[in-house]
Amino acid sequence: MAIPIPSRQLFINGDWAEPLLKKRIPIINPTTEEIIGDIPAATAEDVDVAVQAARSALTRNKGKDWAFASGAVRAKYLRAIATKIKERKPVLAKLETVDCGKPLSESEADMDDVIGCFEYYADLAEGLDAKQKAPISLPMKTFKSYVIKEPIGVVALIVPWNYPLLMATWKVAPALAAGCAAILKPSELASVTCLELGEVCREVDLPAGVLNILPGLGPEAGASLASHPHVDKISFTGSTVTAVKIMTAAAQRVKPVTLELGGKGPIVVFEDVDIDKAVEWTIFGCFYTNGQICSATSRLIVHYEKVMNFISNAKSEGATILYGGNRPKHLKKGFFVEPTIITDVTTSMQIWREEVFGPVLCVKTFTTEEEAIELANDTHYGLGGAVVSKDRERCDRVSKLLQNGAVWVNCSQPCFCQAPFGGTKWSGFGRELGEWYLPKLQLFFSDNYYL
Ligand code: NAD
Repeated sequence: MAIPIPSRQLFINGDWAEPLLKKRIPIINPTTEEIIGDIPAATAEDVDVAVQAARSALTRNKGKDWAFASGAVRAKYLRAIATKIKERKPVLAKLETVDCGKPLSESEADMDDVIGCFEYYADLAEGLDAKQKAPISLPMKTFKSYVIKEPIGVVALIVPWNYPLLMATWKVAPALAAGCAAILKPSELASVTCLELGEVCREVDLPAGVLNILPGLGPEAGASLASHPHVDKISFTGSTVTAVKIMTAAAQRVKPVTLELGGKGPIVVFEDVDIDKAVEWTIFGCFYTNGQICSATSRLIVHYEKVMNFISNAKSEGATILYGGNRPKHLKKGFFVEPTIITDVTTSMQIWREEVFGPVLCVKTFTTEEEAIELANDTHYGLGGAVVSKDRERCDRVSKLLQNGAVWVNCSQPCFCQAPFGGTKWSGFGRELGEWYLPKLQLFFSDNYYL
């Protein structure tokens, strides 16, 4: 797919700015392995300028600007951003595909979710005005207490490469709705559409400094942001290994963090299932986006008889099962591997325990419900899990026992910006999306006084 890659700089204080050290990173098309352009690479010096810009966006005009604007004003900008992204959807989807290698149809679906997420947080921002000052009922009449919500301040939003603009939007939209000023750090492997968000912000005249976009290397731009003294909160999505570094940096300044990390999700398939549906969700749950989804259900835990049924059914329908481990033979170039299914796995194997972040499904069988739950929870991770059974009571029982932030019943992976998302154990803490995320971007003050 040929599409010109816009040449961009860093987006700081409402405009494009060349990195102070003039560094750039090549963009490699993962399908053709060709260099198709480059992105600016921020360093600690640029981070400093961007943090100052964000800080002054909150304090300019004696505090009458962004942080103190009404929710309705912030909603107007969020809606304008959604409208501009809608207009640019065909181009943005193509840019996403050449930058990170996912099929165009998936990039288009991502753009719809991006638009929906900005619109949803616009609605929530409007609703904030009414909830700004909430009285508390106290046992003594001589005191009154009010809780006042204020934006937490300058937030660093660090995101991965697999859903570049969507993961960024999950953080940018609520941060702006809450009245924070943000610095978005996209992945060095896929920053193109995030930079286009800068152009959208220019077009809608978003007040300068409210959103700054700084691509760059993790250990440089990312690490400088995580340790910056004037960043008030870090919201990170990425690997558990990087999360440990970010948490360590944040701990030095007692800075709050939200961590959305990796996973090794189970899908437990019972013997009473509709086999076609179970196959459909098992394949979708593991192989959508080439298996490069944090919540992918990549460990299939299935009643024995069903393994043979899965294999024979899928074979008779023309699917390729028990396949893989190689590059697709029809592709001469590109960073792709075949969908791969692995059986005869033991729980001590690396393939069972570690996040592959690729299209690889491990299969293990069970005989009792207890055994299935034990296998499902046999991981350090706890992001997404799934149960497939016609027995509704069993689904309820098992889903409560799975140690996962999100559990799908008779499906896997659907995700809506209205519902919270996040993990347990090594998959992180805090929740994104929904109305649950807004309070995480706000400070709460209690105002006690005598009557
Ligand atoms: P990664 O951890 O390598 O990088 C993520 C981001 O962190 C990038 O922007 C990178 O530049 C930055 N970074 C790297 N080192 C840093 C440092 N020392 N300090 C600060 N920032 C640093 O992850 P990735 O390979 O881009 O993404 C894949 C991972 O993301 C997988 O583990 C996947 O499961 C996870 N993920 C989780 C979710 C979720 O919602 N839970 C969603 C998507 C992806």
